[in-house]
Amino acid sequence: MELDKMDENDWKYHGEGNKSLVVSHVQHPRVLRLLKYPAEDSENPPQTAEQAYRQIQNIVDFSSNVMSSLLGEKFIHSGEVVKLPLEFVRQLSIKVQHQRPAWRCDKVMDIYSGCALCLPNLTSPALHQPTHTPPLCIEIKPKCGFLPSPKHVSKDIKTKVCRYCMHQHYKVANGKWKRRSFYCPLDLFSGNRQRMHFAIKHLIEEPQNNFKVFKGGQCIYSSKEGSDESPDMNSLLHHLRPYFLHANNRMNCHVTCKAVLNDFIQVLVNALLSSGGGDGGVVADRQAEGRSFCEASIFNKERIRHGSRGLPTDSVLFRILQTQMLDTLDIEGLYPLYRQVEQHLQDFPKERTRLQIEGPYNEAFLEKLQKCPAEDDGSVEYAVAKVHQYRVAMTAKDCSIMVALVPSSEEEEDNESLSSQRQLRDFRPPAFSYSASILDLDPKPFDSIPRQLRLDQKIVTCYLRTGGALP
Ligand code: ATP
Ligand code: ZN
Ligand code: MG
Ligand code: MG
Repeated sequence: MELDKMDENDWKYHGEGNKSLVVSHVQHPRVLRLLKYPAEDSENPPQTAEQAYRQIQNIVDFSSNVMSSLLGEKFIHSGEVVKLPLEFVRQLSIKVQHQRPAWRCDKVMDIYSGCALCLPNLTSPALHQPTHTPPLCIEIKPKCGFLPSPKHVSKDIKTKVCRYCMHQHYKVANGKWKRRSFYCPLDLFSGNRQRMHFAIKHLIEEPQNNFKVFKGGQCIYSSKEGSDESPDMNSLLHHLRPYFLHANNRMNCHVTCKAVLNDFIQVLVNALLSSGGGDGGVVADRQAEGRSFCEASIFNKERIRHGSRGLPTDSVLFRILQTQMLDTLDIEGLYPLYRQVEQHLQDFPKERTRLQIEGPYNEAFLEKLQKCPAEDDGSVEYAVAKVHQYRVAMTAKDCSIMVALVPSSEEEEDNESLSSQRQLRDFRPPAFSYSASILDLDPKPFDSIPRQLRLDQKIVTCYLRTGGALP
């Protein structure tokens, strides 16, 4: 990429989240991720160009030095900061504006700093030789996959119903979404094929901002916030059908649709459980079984035919869950430690640097959180380590997985999952090569912790009040 010859016509709108807007190159498998800030501030940016550069460099460092070591290098692409011509960024912002969903337009793209994060485009992977059929990429934002320990929480419900399921009630009560999703992260992270299948089925039915499908780099399935309509499942099936041709042998259309969807989910479950190279061990049981079932999940435990084998230790889900579980105290147990650190920084402002509160996110930062004393010895080092661990866990609760499915021409696969599928029907599942990546690994700011506590309280109160406990 020649930074002095940037042309906005080479780039197109790709997608956006709450904090950044992404454009993709029309030819090369590359994206630019630009910062966003509140529209009210559009006239005077909240930070200088140097600060924006530092922020993006922090994201790169956090991803490459901290998250990559916790999540596994093979899943991570940290990218690099680039400095773009301002004229290019301005033209780009005008070009993409009309493609942005209205509900995201409370924020504007940063056109002042000229800084962006350049990343490989994970929706157009160049695995193996180029095939005629474009790859399918599925983005899942899985959210938190475990229940907090009863030791640290003030409300019993938090040990029974997972955060995501409670949050759903809060979001519907506040009009953010029209309908509740029946996806439960604890089902997805269970490692049990039936529960995972069930979880993905509900992600497809109500994708919200947790599920997207890309075909050949284009988003073909996602949901629109605040909209009454469900996303167009028929159109998704139409796109998927050619990839699952063998399912066309079915008699009527209804059965075919169901078969296509089932096969798609099956392939996705396989990809999520695969180790992505090398065969890892399997953890027999995730902690106590008790912490891996959510009472709000509508999955019927009685339906489980095969016991949970847990997640393979080198699967992408296992690594994400392990990192999420660095939040050992829950926000309620962590908050007093946050206050201790805050007080310490007020008394000794210079300590901010030594304790690496705002980075740098280097090996020393990683070491601080990994060498945390087992017990609270009252030291500020302990408190800081727990705060750092919590922030890393927050990032892992907010990241996305991109699963790339590349149709393989030769019919050569043979794995143990086949035998169980053959019992269900006589057709071979389609052959794909899979790969998984993790994206959106920004560090969460230190001072976002009080907000986390308030949000937690609101969500729990709302759940208890709106009769979330009712069916
Ligand atoms: P969130 O609100 O989830 O925190 P965010 O503002 O931090 O989101 P990202 O999730 O990093 O932004 O990016 C927004 C979207 O852009 C993603 O959901 C994904 O669809 C797309 N995207 C981001 N990075 C890449 C990439 N490297 N390749 C392809 N698509 C990407
Ligand atoms: Zn749940
Ligand atoms: Mg995101
Ligand atoms: Mg993000």
